[in-house]
Amino acid sequence: MSTPGRILVCLKQVPVPGRGVFDERTKRIRRDDDQAVTNPLDLHALAQGMALRAQTGWEVVAVTMGPPAAAETLLDALRRGADRAVHLVDRRFAGADTLATARALARLVERERPDLVLTGRATLDGGTAQVGPQIAELAALPQLTQATNLRIGDGVLAADVETDVGREVWTVAMPAVISIGRGTEPPWVTEADPSAVETLTAEDLGGGPRDFGTRGSPTFVAEIRHEARKRSTEYVSVGFDAAELLEVAFAPAAPEAEVVVPAPSRQIWAVAEPLPAGGLHPASLEALACARSVAGELRASVVAVLPCDRPQEFPRVLYAHGADRVLVLRGTEPAEYRTDLVTDALSTAIAAHSPFAVIAPFTARGRDYAPRVAARLGLGLTGDFTALEVRDADTDEPDLLWLKPALSADVVAPVIAHSTPSMGTLRPGSFAVRAVRDQREPDVEFAGRSGAGDDLCNAVERRVEIPDAPRLAAARLVIGLGPGLGTGARRVAERVATTPGIALVATSAAVAAGEAPPQLEIGPLARSIAPAVYLGLGRHDLGTLQAVKAARRVVVVDPGAWLDAFTGLVDAVVTANVEGVLLDLLLAASRPVAS
Ligand code: FAD
Repeated sequence: MSTPGRILVCLKQVPVPGRGVFDERTKRIRRDDDQAVTNPLDLHALAQGMALRAQTGWEVVAVTMGPPAAAETLLDALRRGADRAVHLVDRRFAGADTLATARALARLVERERPDLVLTGRATLDGGTAQVGPQIAELAALPQLTQATNLRIGDGVLAADVETDVGREVWTVAMPAVISIGRGTEPPWVTEADPSAVETLTAEDLGGGPRDFGTRGSPTFVAEIRHEARKRSTEYVSVGFDAAELLEVAFAPAAPEAEVVVPAPSRQIWAVAEPLPAGGLHPASLEALACARSVAGELRASVVAVLPCDRPQEFPRVLYAHGADRVLVLRGTEPAEYRTDLVTDALSTAIAAHSPFAVIAPFTARGRDYAPRVAARLGLGLTGDFTALEVRDADTDEPDLLWLKPALSADVVAPVIAHSTPSMGTLRPGSFAVRAVRDQREPDVEFAGRSGAGDDLCNAVERRVEIPDAPRLAAARLVIGLGPGLGTGARRVAERVATTPGIALVATSAAVAAGEAPPQLEIGPLARSIAPAVYLGLGRHDLGTLQAVKAARRVVVVDPGAWLDAFTGLVDAVVTANVEGVLLDLLLAASRPVAS
């Protein structure tokens, strides 16, 4: 009789949104606080686990690593129907970054030997989306990220995977690690007996003192900065100052002197992302702008890393946006993206060239391969950062600070990595994208294929549904649809958002109401953005406003005034005498749309 299958669901206790506080002394979040909940996406993972249990009869085991107070998260999972619960609780786990966290959880995977490990896509506090892929790498298992609708047939798992431009259907051999992109929360169905929670210490998991907690972490939060309170959100009904908003959004970026480093002694890498439907994800050019921002201080050259077989005109575009050289990673065609191929190619290239830092985009693809690369090479990885700073620039060992908005709008947590290179995934919208020199063919180096991959994951179907969605990363003015505005508002907004520099997003409530596709979603369970101006139409909850907190200006317009908002924009455009397509489209958009 084969042993019944087992599904391990990883859940994290997080601060109630908006209530998290840092302990200024330890620079860690206070986890003893009674203001804590189970990370919402982890409950969606639990629901997926229980739906698979109904299909297979397998056991569902909930696990968390955290202080004693985190046992409440396991009681919550047991009340919602989990069969067993395991609490990794030990002082030696404290202060863990994602790699040390994943290492502890991967040790439990070895012990429990599950058929599936389910995690949430990301947490509400650290929000790096790194732990799932890092468990997979450390446990040498295949992975899918941002998956929904899991189903098992003939011993193989099938799942839908959300990308930045559409949806794919994948099958994966089990055991595997799957991070869940969205779903529902399972209801409480029973009482929970605290004695049903098994506790394990670092001893029980084996391994030495340098495996877990602060000592096992290649990154640390260097300080907690309280920034001057940003201008808060303006709630307006009609007659907001659209001209001023346009000025903020489209103000020509200050001319930037080309960074010329005479004798570079280091390299900063910016990983580009060719899109399946053609072109480069704008986040690729932002990564170059970010690398350029510290190249002079670090006396570093900027290298664009291009995972694709046919570089086409991309090297010229990358050179114009600041790349001194281009390294093409062969064997990783964008339309045939696979985690294993890009992870193998990038890890091999980093090991061969030892750059000082590697910046990848915080996109669906970047969140999929970058954590695995960092885990494979034991590197510190800062997730969803928005800026870089250099400390001790004139020494032989300068520090690179990866700045991360944390918990609330005015707190920034600079993260430093002990490792070289250090890595980071850059939040889209954090840097203005602009060419700094004319296009020409740069030095291009080709890295050969680094292996055929493992064939454990197969894409059965790949659909590009919103090819334009990545333009969000380069948008200066982002229009956000709240719920209940109806199709007229969305059509007008879609027209306006075809303008270079303007993009359209939707709140989680609007996506949940079926009024916008998931690829446009912003919010704590989706994505954060950092445009110059965010113009929200209709109801915006605290979570949505958190997701746009890095914007310079946030204006939310009363639900009943969305067309006035566009008219105000059109008037401003005419007054501002904005040339070209922006004017045409805004004027066209102001004409009522036949609904
Ligand atoms: P994510 O990677 O976003 O979580 C994904 C999924 O993994 C979760 O949905 C859950 O299913 C599972 N999971 C995560 N943690 C646990 C757990 N403890 N127990 C069980 N399952 C879990 N560390 C870094 O390495 N790099 C950073 O950039 C970084 N930035 C941080 C910023 C802030 C503001 C804070 C508070 C912490 C940061 N950390 C960072 C530390 C990091 O939050 C912790 O290591 C945490 O345990 C995992 O990271 P995460 O919250 O980003 O989880």
